[in-house]
Amino acid sequence: MPKTMSINAGSSSLKWKLYEMPAEEVIASGIVERIGLNDSIFTIKYGDGEKFEQVLDIEDHAIAVELLLKQLIELSIIQDFNDISGVGHRVVAGGEIFQDSALVTEEVIQQIEDLSEFAPLHNPANATGIKAFREILPDITSVAVFDTSFHQTMPKVNYLYSIPMEYYEKYNARKYGAHGISHQYVSERAAEMLGRPLEELKIITCHLGNGASITAVDGGKSVDTSMGFTPLAGVTMGTRSGDIDASLLPFLMEKLGLNTIDEMIYILNNKSGLKGLSGVSSDMRDLEDVEDTNEKAAIALRIFANRVQKYIGSYIATMNGCDAIVFTAGIGENGVETRKEIIDGITTFGVELDDERNNVRGKERIISTDDSKVKVLLIPTDEEVMIAREVERFKNQK
Ligand code: AMP
Repeated sequence: MPKTMSINAGSSSLKWKLYEMPAEEVIASGIVERIGLNDSIFTIKYGDGEKFEQVLDIEDHAIAVELLLKQLIELSIIQDFNDISGVGHRVVAGGEIFQDSALVTEEVIQQIEDLSEFAPLHNPANATGIKAFREILPDITSVAVFDTSFHQTMPKVNYLYSIPMEYYEKYNARKYGAHGISHQYVSERAAEMLGRPLEELKIITCHLGNGASITAVDGGKSVDTSMGFTPLAGVTMGTRSGDIDASLLPFLMEKLGLNTIDEMIYILNNKSGLKGLSGVSSDMRDLEDVEDTNEKAAIALRIFANRVQKYIGSYIATMNGCDAIVFTAGIGENGVETRKEIIDGITTFGVELDDERNNVRGKERIISTDDSKVKVLLIPTDEEVMIAREVERFKNQK
């Protein structure tokens, strides 16, 4: 059976999953970490809980890909390179160019690199991953899957900032959103679980992980999302501030004696959110552990829930209704207390959590009461399978 790889390439890492398609069966997965540094770590999980791990120096992504494919043969996971007929690459920023996933060509790679100003850390790394596979497997179906494409259906009313229109017209300054692959996956899955056509449903998807975003999905289409021009906007996150008043920036820069806006943005991206508020950690679990004795940790948790509630409320208004709220990603899937705090505070919208059903981590389940007008669902996200499905779709078009 043809095999497809899902790839998520970072600047020094390469995360992958190998699927038997169209069965969507995961046959192996792994990560190469510390690429370009000493002591790169190379891990493959396969078979019946078996694990291969090796520490060696891996100079660049192309070498990582070659080593990976050779090791897959060595472990008899594939017989030869030809066993892999498709590869899908996650790409963070697709701007307005990529309304959909795209078959990789030289032009597409160039466009991804040109979009780096929208995602300076991610797009160059994503392009590097694409090129590395292209070098070694030049003839297979290679597809770029963008984290922004799903949000390209947003109407102007929701993606434009209230700044001079020419900034959008000249510089494409607008909201793009993120986590689109995840929001799309869980909204499609929610419709299946509810046994109703996606086209009829108004769904609010809450991707709550270290990075977090909320999306209003009307009839299967993203109509608004909490992240903005970059993933800094929206709700409070692990280390990111989410929405703030822009006038705070020059005020704080002066107080802190910062000379460049980059230093300020660095603080908003890396030293804010749960971490900045609590002074304890960016990790939800650490804050829950100490919230009874640490006031700052407790307020950080309250603020997190509050910001999610505000977005849910505003998206009910945006869509003029809501059939379902979905929780996904690390906190959404495992944060029993956080889900309860969020939903128990917004029962006025006709949503009610069943505490017993909610007492679960990482399992697909409807967690609202039978009487709840708005259903609440817990759906573990699966961005990798979504990427593999996109490759399948393009293969079938060929
Ligand atoms: P992600 O970025 O999707 O991996 O999510 C990471 C976040 O999920 C971190 O804030 C974790 O603390 C949180 N998380 C993971 N497991 C749990 C748990 N059992 N309870 C609460 N939060 C959790």
